[in-house]
Amino acid sequence: MNSENDVIIGLEVHVQLNNLKTKLFCSCSTDYRGKEPNTHVCPICLGLPGSLPVINEKAIEFATKVALALQCEINERFWFFRKNYFYPDMAKNFQISQYNKAGGRAFGNKGHITIKINGVKKDILLNRIHLEEDPARIVHFGSIITSPYTLVDYNRSGITLLEIVTEPLINSPEEAREFLNQLKLLIEYTGVSNLDLEGSCRVDANISIKGYPRVEVKNINSFKEVESALKWEITRQKNLIKRNQSFTQETRHWDGKVTIPLRTKEFEKDYRYFPEQDLVPIELTQEYIEKIRKTLPEMPNERFERLRKQYQLSEFDAENLILNKSLADFYEEGVNLDPSFGPEEYKLYCNWLMNDVLGWLNDHKLTIDQTRLKPHHLVDLIKYLQSGKITSKIAKTLTDEIMKGIPLEKILKKHGKVRIDDETYIRKIVREVINENPKIVEDYFKKPKAMQALIGNVMKKTRGQADPKLTQTIMQEELKKLERN
Ligand code: ZN
Ligand code: MN
Repeated sequence: MNSENDVIIGLEVHVQLNNLKTKLFCSCSTDYRGKEPNTHVCPICLGLPGSLPVINEKAIEFATKVALALQCEINERFWFFRKNYFYPDMAKNFQISQYNKAGGRAFGNKGHITIKINGVKKDILLNRIHLEEDPARIVHFGSIITSPYTLVDYNRSGITLLEIVTEPLINSPEEAREFLNQLKLLIEYTGVSNLDLEGSCRVDANISIKGYPRVEVKNINSFKEVESALKWEITRQKNLIKRNQSFTQETRHWDGKVTIPLRTKEFEKDYRYFPEQDLVPIELTQEYIEKIRKTLPEMPNERFERLRKQYQLSEFDAENLILNKSLADFYEEGVNLDPSFGPEEYKLYCNWLMNDVLGWLNDHKLTIDQTRLKPHHLVDLIKYLQSGKITSKIAKTLTDEIMKGIPLEKILKKHGKVRIDDETYIRKIVREVINENPKIVEDYFKKPKAMQALIGNVMKKTRGQADPKLTQTIMQEELKKLERN
């Protein structure tokens, strides 16, 4: 009863294909975020009587890309359905969607996403993916439960959504989070959407304990929230079962802390699905699908293998790089700028990017594109490090300025932090120190340990910039000369 597998989770993920310029059935702009409410609208996306939808061809192309990336079986012929419901976010009282029954078909069936937790791989199979229109945005004053009124913004109405439905094969909140991370990665690689935009990805989660009714938690807005909501809901259901209390199939709302009942779950028949007669059936030829397949960029798995081979990166490094597409792009641009780079530099560049740069980005809650750091800046850093012009210890103290995109040469000039490896210069300073400290030199001949004090003086005179190894060698040489005299 308490085993992990008693938990059954299925996800329905609504992804906005927000790199489309126009909506799914009209030519209104999709650039609605932060805009005056109800300004990106027309009779079609307002659902006015008599208006006729026209399919956005580019949306079909984007959906095909995702279907291919998820390895779905694409349905070559389908038509849209009306999903009827009464709610202020859809003025025409139905959502144009796809339906996989009553003669209808989804966009694609099956497909899968592989997740990896503690080194163990698991395939999460998909049931289907389908296209549908985003409803308008409902704005509540305060909480959905206590708000005295509801505002409706139709700017979002008609934005293209791709709904991705998993089989109920997810057995823990951690698996759900990992699934979503991998899905986000794939979507990013296909280039159809930027899932960092607020509200661009909304998740409905079906959760049950084996043998008990299923609860749907609707409209969870971020991946982190999905994990929290699932954890909370599982505990709630397990507690009810423990106390022998019965519960029914229902829809609940996650308010950030707890799930609260919204309504008893409507059943599929309540939606009275029927074919949308205002749109023509869609037919995709094999030729078309193959043409789109050729435009697909390299997917994360393929990139992983290539990074390993091309730059001799470890499994760990390659995996970390592909998990962040913009960092991986940054990496490849950088290491290819200098033809003299080899495996040693590839590794060093990766270390700096994934430790120092990424650490700084996380601390400042920024992405690499939001900084002025460019790939060539890190190339310079690696070259300075490799030639011994600066130590990595010094470089690490300069991260703030490096991240501002200030050329390294300029930073080092300002701080005077170049490592001095000029032998003649160091010898000059060493001699000075020896001449200025006869007492310590005398000590040295009794206790060789006293040499550290002399080296300390050299460091003081060079503001810590003298190469420590070289300084020690030269100091030994000079002191030996004195011994002989
Ligand atoms: Zn419109
Ligand atoms: Mn949906």
